[in-house]
Amino acid sequence: MNKKFLGILIVIVFAVFTTGCHVPPRSFVERQLVGSEESVDYEHQKDNTQLVIGDINSKPGTVAPTTTPSTTTSNSTTSIASETTTPTSLPSTTTTPTSTPSITTTSTSSASTPTNTQLTYSRPPATADASGCQTMFVGLPEYAEGAKIVSLTFDDGPRPDTTGPLLDILKTYNVKATFCMVGWRIQGNEALVKRMVDEGHLLCNHSWDHPNLTELTDEEVIEQITKTDNAIYQATGLKAPLIRPPYGAYDDNTNALIDKPVLMWNLDTRDWESRDTDEILDKINSEIKSGDCLLFHDIYEPSVEAVRILIPQLMNQGYVFVRTDELLTADGTPLTNGHVYHQAPILPEPTSTTGIVAQVNE
Ligand SMILES: [Zn+2]
Repeated sequence: MNKKFLGILIVIVFAVFTTGCHVPPRSFVERQLVGSEESVDYEHQKDNTQLVIGDINSKPGTVAPTTTPSTTTSNSTTSIASETTTPTSLPSTTTTPTSTPSITTTSTSSASTPTNTQLTYSRPPATADASGCQTMFVGLPEYAEGAKIVSLTFDDGPRPDTTGPLLDILKTYNVKATFCMVGWRIQGNEALVKRMVDEGHLLCNHSWDHPNLTELTDEEVIEQITKTDNAIYQATGLKAPLIRPPYGAYDDNTNALIDKPVLMWNLDTRDWESRDTDEILDKINSEIKSGDCLLFHDIYEPSVEAVRILIPQLMNQGYVFVRTDELLTADGTPLTNGHVYHQAPILPEPTSTTGIVAQVNE
């Protein structure tokens, strides 16, 4: 009997030790996971409190075509726009549907679609220019000439559970976008960044961990850009040809240090603020016009859902989605390093009244 009791005691002690060694308390694991997100978000929050938030670039859209020049040479004032990612990214345990969007949501056979114009994209695959950057295109693709044009840009990713589904949507509609990425998020998500290039999207450097560049030393600014360039290069074999400064904050000095054209936007979807698909769509629909460069954040699920609805909606209104380099150089003028770009240059009045329907890729 004593032996039996001893045996049971040994089993119990062994079980307790085994569990204690290999499974840390749940709360400890959760703190670890949340901690890394929170520390970054805290920095954003801290920055936000120091900024004067003003939607200086988004103006109510009234008429197409675009009437504002796209090029703004840097001036002596610091520019701080409203690209203020507030904080809290979705918890890392959140799952997002990853299924490819239903093809039936496209309007290929919709009676309300005027004329089906097949949108095809025939630009060559990404290559490196002389400086090792992803080659940018100059001018509009043929199918976009004379049409209303618009371009999509996504900041602060990549984030697998939102950027992945977004890439699926863009692929379905054959829409090419621009991804302005923060370097720290690229680590571990290299395959996602490679997928962007393989599927024809444009790479954009959005700093390493989203500081206000105008508040850094020259060395720190260069480090922010170089580290992210290196991360993008490691993932794709290409460097990003564009930079979007966090918070849209730049000045003469940062632009001189940045050896790339500076990409801003002129229609802020405010998705970082509303985090609501309907509000994002309302904001866009009330302002959009030809030549616009839209700012989204691909780290929020409502933003991805808004894009899923927006693309076929705008196509039915006759808009053609072009890549941001094509939008900004629509008049044939190449981009210049250190210059700031918000939207398409002045273009002739769009003549196309036909609906544009996507080429659906399986
Ligand atoms: Zn950002």
